[in-house]
Amino acid sequence: MTPLYLDYAATTPVDPRVAEVMGQHLTLDGVFANPASRTHRYGWDAEEAVELGRSQLATLLCCDVRELVFTSGATEANNLAIKGMAEALAGRGRHLITSPIEHKAVVDCFKVLEAQGFEVSWLEPEPSGVVAPETLAAALRSDTILVSLMAVHNELGVKNDLAALGALCRDAGVPFHVDGAQALGKMALDLSTLPVDLMSFSGHKVYGPKGIGALFVNRGLNPPPVAQMHGGGHERGLRSGTLPTHQIAGFGAAAACYADGALEAELLHLEACREAFLRGLGALPGVHPLGAGAPTMPGILNLAFDGVDGETLQMAVASELACSSGSACNSVSVEPSFVLTALGLPRALAFSALRFSFGRFTTVAEVEGAGAWLAERVASLRSPVAVSS
Ligand SMILES: *Cc1c(COP(=O)(O)O)cnc(C)c1O
Repeated sequence: MTPLYLDYAATTPVDPRVAEVMGQHLTLDGVFANPASRTHRYGWDAEEAVELGRSQLATLLCCDVRELVFTSGATEANNLAIKGMAEALAGRGRHLITSPIEHKAVVDCFKVLEAQGFEVSWLEPEPSGVVAPETLAAALRSDTILVSLMAVHNELGVKNDLAALGALCRDAGVPFHVDGAQALGKMALDLSTLPVDLMSFSGHKVYGPKGIGALFVNRGLNPPPVAQMHGGGHERGLRSGTLPTHQIAGFGAAAACYADGALEAELLHLEACREAFLRGLGALPGVHPLGAGAPTMPGILNLAFDGVDGETLQMAVASELACSSGSACNSVSVEPSFVLTALGLPRALAFSALRFSFGRFTTVAEVEGAGAWLAERVASLRSPVAVSS
């Protein structure tokens, strides 16, 4: 039996509508040329396809097309924003602010900068995983040059209050970067009014292809980040490299799938999936939903289970459910998730946590069945019979 895919936060399958558009941008009979080729029709068509993709993404984000820089993904967008701003503003100050439970692609950028002599304040999150605006307010200094905090947490699903955090940064005159990889397509984002200066996005979290992402750079941000990739001066000098037409067309088509109320409908669907899963789980005792007490994005449900060994649980679940323990990005190591230990979860409980994430192609019926199956499995793992067999 094929396990049920409940790992949409790690990546999503490409939407068939997106795959079709991408297929039209690869072969000789399609729009395949280099968008930077200004001397022939093939190049002009490719440039048009790129600009269509850009405008589709800009529409979803309520921003200007000139505020989007295409990158290889959210990892690269985070690197460009964080290292690029540190480099741009090093003469003004050397103090940076983030949290220890950001995605690795943010945490590791700050560690690199720390090693280069920048001072980093690692804000302590609330037990739910959100960063309280008061915590940020207390850390801002006159020599702070960048704040980076994520929109929706990839392991917990909790949402930071971007309006409040951003307002504090604006008041202090400090650029605010947000990792928005888990927020795109999961909440309404109006970047024309949200007090955010830089925001990172990824194609493959929104039913687009892997290997494409974007960095929003607010037009009012002065100076902009310093380029980290040098070459032909593409993307207004911020990110050199031949633009991948098929990837950008696919990312744009993926963004367009959220138009006309589809985003709101998808949120309701995710909510229904989450409720169905919990309904299926029933009255199983000793279940700890992580991120409790904070606003959450309904597509992610992270549960820790009392009285089961984490590794045994994962092996028992794998035949039926494709879910994630901790973050998929660090699942190669056998340590519990650094996020859960940073939140003060006891080691054994952190080991037993499973992240279920739902998506566009999940059905309410299958997810309810999955919850019921899981409840039975956990109960039998806890029973003495299962332990001795
Ligand atoms: C997936 C993810 C990333 C990495 O995105 P890529 O496009 O795979 O590089 C970064 N941050 C968060 C919060 C993510 O969920």
